[in-house]
Formats: sequence, structure tokens, C-alpha cells
Amino acid sequence: CGIVGYTGSKPALPFLIDGLTTLEYRGYDSAGVELETPDGLLQVKCKGRVAALADLCSRLSRKNAEAPCGIAHTRWATHGEPSDKNAHPHQDCTGNVAVVHNGIIENYQALVAELEAAGHTMASDTDSEVIAHLIEQALAGDAEGDLLLAVQLATSRLVGSWALAVLYADAPGTIVCARQGSPLVLASTDAGAYAASDVTALAGVTNHVINLDDGQLARLSLDGTIEVFESDLSPVDQPDAFDIDWD
Ligand code: GLU
Repeated sequence: CGIVGYTGSKPALPFLIDGLTTLEYRGYDSAGVELETPDGLLQVKCKGRVAALADLCSRLSRKNAEAPCGIAHTRWATHGEPSDKNAHPHQDCTGNVAVVHNGIIENYQALVAELEAAGHTMASDTDSEVIAHLIEQALAGDAEGDLLLAVQLATSRLVGSWALAVLYADAPGTIVCARQGSPLVLASTDAGAYAASDVTALAGVTNHVINLDDGQLARLSLDGTIEVFESDLSPVDQPDAFDIDWD
């Protein structure tokens, strides 16, 4: 199970596929990618290897394949069998929010019941999908369209472990990440901003890596900017960072 994300001046897809391939050693049974195209969010996902996902992606139109912002996931199923529909990313009901999740949401059954009572329909059997719906609910409610705030409000409802990367069609070029108990590293370069479960996915990208700490959130922007926040959304001026000697 692994997560990667990219927003920047280049097409996202090559890094996303390469990154997932590097992360395959963490275990996987399915893989998927969400791209921010000119026509909205576009999802490609399937049971099986990253190579199968890459093959599906090779059939995308050039316009979609060159999307400059995207997130991707290799899954090691904990809740819900390995299948196309249970592969990540997961979307909300509107299709405007997409989430990749590494970890386990222990209270997902109570959240599913609450969300279904509020009119949401679940499309998968995973514990992860509730996150997309909680974000949708927050965006339409107290967060008033602010993705960072919506992710903070959504994660405050979760019990368990997570590394998340989230896209919102109305916040183009932005990826919001959050971490609790599952690893997530970030990198900012001239070419854009990167997120990954493991530094190995960033080989060839940078030797300077930001480590997101438990409870923190981050906002990645198209110009490569990374802002890190504590769980109460107070800014972190000096995030935990380190240099890597790839030799
Ligand atoms: N618990 C989630 C699922 O089963 C995420 C698993 C993972 O970390 O890959 O879909």
C-alpha cells in the first residue's frame, strides 16, 4: 500500500506511475490514479498490478494524460475484497472530491451509517470511502468550500490510521495531505510539489524531503509551494525536513 501525488508544471502521470511502481514492494492488490483534467476529475483504477493500471492509462487522450495534478495509490486491502470498485481513489457523491488512503479507519461502520442516513451512497466496501463523503459534507457545510478546512474537519471524525492525499475539482492544482499513524513525505522543487508514502518514490526528484508528522496536514500547490499545518490548522514554520544521500 502506497500513496503518491504531484502538482506542478509537468504532466503528473509519469511520476505517479513510476512512484507506484517503486512503492509496489509495500504490497498491493490493486492500483489507481485520479487526474485533474480540464473537464474535471478523472479516475482510472483496477484490481491487479501497477503495470495493468499503466496499460489503462496509456489509452487516455493526450489532453487527459498531460494533466498537471494527480494522486495515486497501490492498495493492500484491509476492508473490502480486492476489486476494481474497492481500488482507490474513492470519490464523494458529486465526483468532485477524490481521496487516496493508506491505513485503517476503525470507526467506518458508524460513519457509513451516519452518512447513509444523511443521504450519501457508498460505492465501495472499503473503510476509506467515508473520508471522501465526510470531506464532501464539510465542503458543503462548515468549511464553505475550503479544502484544507474540510480535510481537517473530516479527519477530526476519524479513529484509526491514515495517510491521505485529496483532490477537489473546485481547487485546481491543489493537493491536501494529512497524516496520522501512516507514513507520508513531501518534496518541493522548481517543477512542483510531491507527496509519497516513502522517500524511495522521490529518488531522482530531490534530495531534500519534508517529513509530515502525526496529526499534521499539508497543502501542495501548482507552483511547488508546500504549507504544513498542525491539526488545529496553525501554520508550521519549520517542518521536519532532512536530506538524503541517494548513494
Ligand atoms: N484500509 C484501506 C482499504 O482497505 C486502505 C488499505 C491500504 O492502506 O492500502 O482499502
